[in-house]
Amino acid sequence: MTLPKTIDLAAMKTGGFIKQKEKDFFALRLRTPVGKIDADHLEVISKVSRKYGDGNLHLTVRQGIEIQGIPFEQLQNARDDLEAAGVRIGACGPRFRVVTACPGAEICPNGLVDSAGLGLAADERFYGQPEGLELPHKFKVTFAGCLACCPKPQENDVGFHGLVEPELFADDCNGCGVCEVTCKEGAIVMGDDDLPIKDDAKCIDCGDCIKSCPTDAWKVKRVGLAAYAGGRWGRHPELGQKIGEFISPDDAMEVIADVLRFYKEEGKRGERLGVTIGRVGLDELKRRVGK
Ligand code: SF4
Ligand code: SF4
Ligand code: SF4
Repeated sequence: MTLPKTIDLAAMKTGGFIKQKEKDFFALRLRTPVGKIDADHLEVISKVSRKYGDGNLHLTVRQGIEIQGIPFEQLQNARDDLEAAGVRIGACGPRFRVVTACPGAEICPNGLVDSAGLGLAADERFYGQPEGLELPHKFKVTFAGCLACCPKPQENDVGFHGLVEPELFADDCNGCGVCEVTCKEGAIVMGDDDLPIKDDAKCIDCGDCIKSCPTDAWKVKRVGLAAYAGGRWGRHPELGQKIGEFISPDDAMEVIADVLRFYKEEGKRGERLGVTIGRVGLDELKRRVGK
């Protein structure tokens, strides 16, 4: 079957169908937030790939799955089979994209916050056209569990990573100096009294001193998220700028909502958030976040 001449490829892309280079064939993008996939769903996806596609699946750089090589006339059948099994279809175009995240505190020994859980919550609330907002361009969000930033929060329109502020309980310290050696930022030096002294200007709140202390003298004072806005990759890469620190998980959702409203009100069609921030000003964005 040849592709109808009236077909709106942009609209199809928005619905998750991406035209391939090969004539009349499409890839179907699935919605797999934070890259977490039910094993039963994976079997259904494999079956659909063999039944309607060319038997190949592509793992996207944003933790997604695309079923490749589906002829135009089989697209609806493929979609019906997937949706009947509870597998959701993704979206492209100027939308709030599927949220990515690392496994975070539930799985990774380095995790400080439940980045995967936060990513799922954000995806559930904002995916597509949140609150009826038509966005000027695509909008990408990610959550990292710690400062290693594996899912690259600074390259997303809005990105978060976990933070932990340490607090010293001097009575528990034996003066071993392990924390001084452990701190890669040089933020800890041992004082004359054999107690560690923390330089807050150098400390990046990674929590390594807490993990390394053999007597638990460094304890958690507070845990939260740092937020960045305006990052993007592509032709003109730009790192996101910090817009908040020690944000609670609940407040992180409101940060996203506030930035989306700013973007909708100030962004020009086809303009990524970072460009909007450059035009309108980071201070103005910060003024409107957390109101
Ligand atoms: S960002 Fe941190 S918590 Fe997440 S996977 Fe990387 S090391 Fe683990
Ligand atoms: S690692 Fe712990 S016990 Fe050792 S100097 Fe640092 S705070 Fe004290
Ligand atoms: S939290 Fe990290 S940067 Fe800060 S003092 Fe501890 S090890 Fe150093």
